Amino acid sequence: MNQTQLTSYKEKLEKERLSLLEQIKKSEQPSDFGDDVDDFEEETNEAEDFSNKLAEAGDLKQRLAEIDIALSKIRNGGYGVCTDCGKEIDNEVLSISPEAPLCKSCQAKN
Ligand SMILES: [Zn+2]
Repeated sequence: MNQTQLTSYKEKLEKERLSLLEQIKKSEQPSDFGDDVDDFEEETNEAEDFSNKLAEAGDLKQRLAEIDIALSKIRNGGYGVCTDCGKEIDNEVLSISPEAPLCKSCQAKN
């Protein structure tokens, strides 16, 4: 991988990271849960909605963690190398998800 590619992945990851942080912030704030007078059914729906949002925030945090790992590899070396088999990850994979820790064949195995 050359420096230009590395820089472009880094920019992508940093952008993605910011937008994830924004989404996590939003998803952790209950919209109007509890501060208005609703009938019981609506409260239940809102509670459900809130727990869905928390689950969603969990996914986002997982993704954020992967991005953080990828960014630290860009800084410290080892970026674009499969954590499983140690081979280089195809640019084809990285251009779609630059935070991918696994090469195509290892990803298929899991
Ligand atoms: Zn692999």
